[in-house]
Amino acid sequence: MITVKQFYFNDLRECCYVLSDESGECVIVDPGISTKREGERLQQYIAENNLKPVKLLCTHGHFDHVMGNRFVTDAWNIPTYIHPADKNILKMAKATSQLFDIHIEDPSLDTVDINGGDEVKFGNSSLKVISTPGHTRGSVLFYSSPDKICITGDTLFAGSCGRTDLPEGDSKAMCSSLVDIIVRQIPHDTRIYPGHGPESTMVEELAHNPYLRKDTWLRFDI
Ligand SMILES: [Zn+2]
Ligand SMILES: [Zn+2]
Repeated sequence: MITVKQFYFNDLRECCYVLSDESGECVIVDPGISTKREGERLQQYIAENNLKPVKLLCTHGHFDHVMGNRFVTDAWNIPTYIHPADKNILKMAKATSQLFDIHIEDPSLDTVDINGGDEVKFGNSSLKVISTPGHTRGSVLFYSSPDKICITGDTLFAGSCGRTDLPEGDSKAMCSSLVDIIVRQIPHDTRIYPGHGPESTMVEELAHNPYLRKDTWLRFDI
């Protein structure tokens, strides 16, 4: 049984998640830590719950999601998992953040590739990697069927979806990721945990998210 802990980090209120199970092992997803205090909040949660981080998972490479990668890999000496198509964005994260007058430590580029269909394991649990290009080419979801949870990064938000006007964004790819992949592959009783904003459920999103409503996407002929 996976426990999900959410943290809001940095000025963009990015969502970092710690997923743990009864074994005590956990994975840290998108640690957008930007201050010492935010790092301490994560460390405190890990220590208080006697957790052992074993992997750092990236839903994509944008700087607001990887700001604390160096902090996490230094603190727990764990490998970083990212889709190969977003490695370039990861490499540019420090330079990109400087455009926003934000200073981050270079994330480790010594990464492990994850692709759609892969299983990422920790403790007694397993997360399926689902490739959802659109927001970036290497955007992925992390989905657990037995626990009915899905970490959706900046692909799917409560009531909205991620932007596609940034470099490497692709609105057509986003449409097919939302419909072909998310609507058709993620069971409707799944709880979703986005990269920004509150959590939701697929039932709720199918009813109210304009990007997932049938009458919207049928118009795009997808
Ligand atoms: Zn993003
Ligand atoms: Zn983001």
